Amino acid sequence: MTQAIYLDYNATAPLRSQARDAMIRALSVTGNPSSVHGFGRAARRLVEEGREAVAALAGVAPAQIVFTSGGTEANAMALRGLASAGRTILVSAIEHPSVLTATASAAVPVRPDGVVDLGALDGMLAACGPAAVSLMAANNETGVIQPLSDAVEIARRHGALVHCDAVQAAGKIAVDFDSLGVDLLSLSGHKIGGPPGVGALVLRDGVVVPPLILGGGQERSRRGGTENVPGIVGFGAAAEAARNGLDAFAGLAAWRDALERRLLEISPEAAIFGRRSPRLANTSCIEMPGVPAETQVMAFDLAGIAVSAGSACSSGKVAASPVLAAMGVAEGPASSAVRVSLGWDTDAGEIEAFVKAWSSIFQRAGAAAA
Ligand code: PLP
Repeated sequence: MTQAIYLDYNATAPLRSQARDAMIRALSVTGNPSSVHGFGRAARRLVEEGREAVAALAGVAPAQIVFTSGGTEANAMALRGLASAGRTILVSAIEHPSVLTATASAAVPVRPDGVVDLGALDGMLAACGPAAVSLMAANNETGVIQPLSDAVEIARRHGALVHCDAVQAAGKIAVDFDSLGVDLLSLSGHKIGGPPGVGALVLRDGVVVPPLILGGGQERSRRGGTENVPGIVGFGAAAEAARNGLDAFAGLAAWRDALERRLLEISPEAAIFGRRSPRLANTSCIEMPGVPAETQVMAFDLAGIAVSAGSACSSGKVAASPVLAAMGVAEGPASSAVRVSLGWDTDAGEIEAFVKAWSSIFQRAGAAAA
């Protein structure tokens, strides 16, 4: 059915009108950005404008940006590159699968509040040789914001480099590469209102990772392949809009908090995972006691509301979320957790409709079980 209410921004956000308009214009531009003629130069200009806008979102110089096919490729490029330099890779236990599977790595535990255990990180770094740490800026399922600057300080003491998957945080909170102090950072177009299939790896000056994809020397020989010109244009336009919209995005916390309060009134025993930690303003991971997440997602879908069970990548699978498992959540509550993620087009009526649907699904499930 056509979804009337979209509360799944963390899976993919709607294309922003600025991105759509810029991409439609870019689709009419013929030319390979590597060609020296006027057509090529016009395409090159579009790529470089996109690069400037994405660089501005992360507070870096355009030359630090390597465009990729998305967050997954940026994570793979970063981690495989660091591993190929002989570094032991430590990743937090709640990273996205694209980090967890990029290369052999050891998992740093997280606390029950969803925040990485910095003491454990310190101990693990002390016990290994040259290392690199991968810690996400904010978790895709719970929205919990990670203590990156503290992790960087610990890593520095041990001579380790730090990669940050900022795919979910970018456009939702300020992500300033230098303030965070990281060495590599991943971004994705479709999480900020750009198109899917485009992302970026940001590199600190002097940090070199070998290309994953060889080819014609594009992206300063860091990523082969003709640039995705319309994708980069859309990514750039979305980055600019996201940067301008950070304050408004922070305002979503009021709606999210009100939504959570209402659900707790309906079911006081419902758990909200990561609620006591600093979180992205738009994200809530909520247990509906006794109702499997898959049942909820289908029931919400029938009610015209799109939400996710755990991460979108693991939806469809019955297994409880590894993120919640890493936080020590028991299988029962974890398998009844649904992620709601709001965004710039969410309105009060949609929150109201969600609360009503939640209440009715919960009551129906209770009646069926009775
Ligand atoms: N990292 C995180 C935290 C994500 O949430 C996602 C997407 O769900 C990715 C990486 C992958 O990004 P992409 O879909 O652009 O490959």
